[in-house]
Amino acid sequence: MGTLGVLLTCPMDSYLEEELDKRYKLFRLWESPSEKRVDFLRTHAPGIRAIVGNVNVGVDAETISALPKLEIVSSFSVGLDKVDLDKCRERGILVTNTPDVLTEDVADLAIGLAIAVLRKICVSDRFVRSGAWKSKGSFELTTKFSGKSVGMLGLGRIGMAIAKRAEAFGCPINYFARSEKPSVGYKFYPTAVDLAANSQVLVVACALTEETKHIVNREVINALGLQGVLVNIGRGSHVDEAELVAALTEGRLGGAGLDVFEREPFPSEELLSMDNVVLLPHVGSGTWETRRDMADLVLANLEAFVLNKPLVTPVLW
Ligand code: NAP
Repeated sequence: MGTLGVLLTCPMDSYLEEELDKRYKLFRLWESPSEKRVDFLRTHAPGIRAIVGNVNVGVDAETISALPKLEIVSSFSVGLDKVDLDKCRERGILVTNTPDVLTEDVADLAIGLAIAVLRKICVSDRFVRSGAWKSKGSFELTTKFSGKSVGMLGLGRIGMAIAKRAEAFGCPINYFARSEKPSVGYKFYPTAVDLAANSQVLVVACALTEETKHIVNREVINALGLQGVLVNIGRGSHVDEAELVAALTEGRLGGAGLDVFEREPFPSEELLSMDNVVLLPHVGSGTWETRRDMADLVLANLEAFVLNKPLVTPVLW
């Protein structure tokens, strides 16, 4: 397998990088200064047949065009918003991702965010650490999560896993997706606004596409309302962050738990000082166990490609 040239777009996982280095001829894109990337790609293009990218640095049309020998893109992520799928389709390039193995971790974190916002876990942690418990006495009362109606924006693998967890907390589940799913027994709403108007906690778990960019806009936020809580474990661009900040500042929304932001790693400044938000640095799949499984899936897909076997988790084939 030593002859396959693989381009790794950025540092993403040390085990994955070591294994790729052992098995293939590995090219590290970030080792070349950004102004020299075009030269780097031109120099190594004849040897690069595979790319491994992730949520930070994916595979855009320009990179694909610079690599005439490219045959497979294996993304270290389930979301493919950073891969130019149209360009891959046009060129007949295979695409794989890492579904399922990260579902449980992301779902766990979504529930964690909802509870952290409603029960003010981070604020009360700061209360203890600052000595305020001793000087000011009891912490303020908060709001329960159990029994709140949960609206799922997207009911795919991760959305279903979140819904199942929320059900165990006695939460009625509503959802909006491209298609109604009569078998799930949850209530379908035909628009994101209708869903938000009928939910106390709105969780974003859909794929990011042109259609779902800013799916959480001013209207949706207003429909969720001043007691409502938004949880985003999808992608930052699902939410119009300026509108979110405005709603939180003006008291039109109860709170937000965010794992993702429009410009990472630069969440809107205003969010940093708000006590009704919990902010995480895009760590939905960030456990040792899951990152190992994701890496193994990338490796298994590349191996299948080299051996001319069926891909393990194909998106385009
Ligand atoms: P999935 O199984 O493909 O589910 C995607 C869901 O999005 C489906 O329910 C789909 O609706 C819905 N959807 C797609 N286009 C839509 C539209 N235009 N309007 C409404 N709903 C739409 O994917 P998954 O494995 O659950 O992953 C979901 C997303 O989570 C990923 O794409 C990624 O962005 C994000 N994610 C984030 C992290 C993190 O670290 N925070 C980690 C992993 C994944 P249908 O069911 O009707 O097709």
